[in-house]
Amino acid sequence: MRNYLFVLMLIALTSCTKNTNYYTLNDFEKVDKIDVHIHINTNRDVFVEQARKDNFRLLNIVVDISNTEEEIVEKYNYRLDTKTRYPEVSEFATSFSMQKWDDPDWLKNTMNWLDKGINEGAVGVKVWKNIGMVFKDKNGVQVMIDDPKFDAIFKMLTKRKITLIGHLGEPKNCWLPLDEMTTNNDKKYFKEYPQYHMYKHPDLPSYEEQIAARDRMLDKNPDLVFMGVHLGSLEWSVDELAKRLDKYPNMSVDMAARIGQLFYQTKEDREKVRQFFIKYQDRLLYGTDLQDFGKMSAIEKQTQMHDYWIRDWEYFVTNNIMTSELLDGEFQGLHLPKEVVDKIYFKNARKWLKMFPNQQEK
Ligand SMILES: [Zn+2]
Repeated sequence: MRNYLFVLMLIALTSCTKNTNYYTLNDFEKVDKIDVHIHINTNRDVFVEQARKDNFRLLNIVVDISNTEEEIVEKYNYRLDTKTRYPEVSEFATSFSMQKWDDPDWLKNTMNWLDKGINEGAVGVKVWKNIGMVFKDKNGVQVMIDDPKFDAIFKMLTKRKITLIGHLGEPKNCWLPLDEMTTNNDKKYFKEYPQYHMYKHPDLPSYEEQIAARDRMLDKNPDLVFMGVHLGSLEWSVDELAKRLDKYPNMSVDMAARIGQLFYQTKEDREKVRQFFIKYQDRLLYGTDLQDFGKMSAIEKQTQMHDYWIRDWEYFVTNNIMTSELLDGEFQGLHLPKEVVDKIYFKNARKWLKMFPNQQEK
């Protein structure tokens, strides 16, 4: 009888430690989470409502997609509006337009614009792949991110401790033919947007040149806090990404729209990806690139958001065997310890982006 009791106690104890070290699928709603990469381009509240239900806070980012100043201002106003109405849910990052790059006043006007955004609460400034892949100056030369004309902006951001959020280059798949790409979402995206499918534009800078320009910019600005979005465009290899994180201590990355590449690498070598997350737990931030343009119905949009968020939660916290439309085949969830999950979902955003400084630390 005594032995029997002892065994029972032991079982109770081990299941107890197990529960305290790891989250389960059911913990999804109760754990505080931040999605550091979303875009709300509408005044409706569909996105924020779902975020509240799923216990997410948001970083709502402006992007310079059309190159026009007008569009930047319009997008900025949506973000300021959302933050003003829901300060406990949504923070924002601003951006700037490349449209008047060749004007002698471009730098001065851009600095004034960014100053306004930072004073109104922007926690970051985003630069997009148009720098390096689309925008050419008046001489027809591709402007790269290490162009000296950007130096004053990056110095100002360093001084004011504002994070530069960089989507520079594209996934390596972008330089491959469609049938050689590793994930289904990349195949779909580059089929839809052939203008960004660099395999079709061999005249434009290569993948390696994009990464090298970004690295030269970081070399010039060692104290700049930099978040490389989309896994810093090194989504294809956690080993390559680890090298950059080692080299640039002020660099972090989000995983927005590249979770498929993580699934892919997990399918190939789960333990390697798991160890990467544990080793670099202070440098990785959860983000999705979910957006609301006000086009989908509210119910469709909210279902999409919830499905993405719960899928990724399952991947990080459980060891379930999973499948995803993002890639072919099965992969197993990473079953990361709680403290790692808390960092990638919450604490790292507080640390690297200074989000919600007035809210209680967990
Ligand atoms: Zn994005």
